[in-house]
Amino acid sequence: MGIFKRGLSRTRQSLVGRISQMLGNTEIDEDTWDDLEASFIQADLGLETTETVLDYLKETTAREGITRTNQLDKVLKESLYALLDPPPPLNITGRDLSIILIVGVNGSGKTTSIAKLANRFKKEGRNVMLAAGDTFRAAAIEQLQTWGERAGVPVIANKPGSDPGAVVYDAIQAAQARNADLLIIDTAGRLHNNYNLMRELEKIRNVISKAVPDAPHEVLLVLDGTTGQNALKQGQKFAEATNVTGLIITKLDGTARGGMIFSVFTEVGAPVQFIGLGEGIDDLVRFDVKQFVDGLFE
Ligand code: GDP
Repeated sequence: MGIFKRGLSRTRQSLVGRISQMLGNTEIDEDTWDDLEASFIQADLGLETTETVLDYLKETTAREGITRTNQLDKVLKESLYALLDPPPPLNITGRDLSIILIVGVNGSGKTTSIAKLANRFKKEGRNVMLAAGDTFRAAAIEQLQTWGERAGVPVIANKPGSDPGAVVYDAIQAAQARNADLLIIDTAGRLHNNYNLMRELEKIRNVISKAVPDAPHEVLLVLDGTTGQNALKQGQKFAEATNVTGLIITKLDGTARGGMIFSVFTEVGAPVQFIGLGEGIDDLVRFDVKQFVDGLFE
């Protein structure tokens, strides 16, 4: 079974399973649209996306003369494909050292996602290093070191409580000295308010861009997919605080609310680059809307 199909079983059951069951094979009428609307909201598609999908379904069924509910699956699949463009390639090639900054609140799956990314890029032949920029949590530093050892990727860290800017500076120096071509930087997620968030991220960005002028080349925001629409609010906050270039949506295997993936681009303004579909080191995949939707339906 493919990772998309395996990982999305809960959303599949709640969204598609429910829809197929509910629809049966009857004439399409107002109740059909009401029932669909309720299902989309429940799967956390969000209001705006729900309206977009319903409009598409209504228009297409009218245009194509579709009158039976058992013909709706195919149109629904097409409408979901059309909601998202494929993410652009990551801007992490074509220079000596590329830098990815990872942001997100504690518990979102930040550390795990960094380990998964490091493992992935190392397998692709990159010379990867990690920086433990979340210096608030001793556990975060240790966890990153453990993952780094497992993936065979060096981790630059300092004592808990030390200045994250200094760790980031050291990490860039070390990456350059050791000819690393990709540095992935963890940041703190213990953020009391927008002001702190902005200041902390700004400081780190200043340190980075002083050392490597066009960096960071990607700023990836990690959002917990099990928190549905709440993740979107968090995403908006981060997007206000810093220039987020892409998203990693984690834990989509553990939720029936994977529908949020369809509204997150509109809400946060950055494309979904990766999704987390499990706790293992290989369970982070490039987001592909077609595979995602097919994973929901098959
Ligand atoms: P951080 O506090 O943001 O650094 O979060 P962690 O990386 O420590 O992750 C928090 C928990 O979520 C851990 O138990 C991870 O194993 C788990 N986790 C992270 N990503 C995924 C995922 O894609 N799927 C599942 N099922 N669990 C995940």
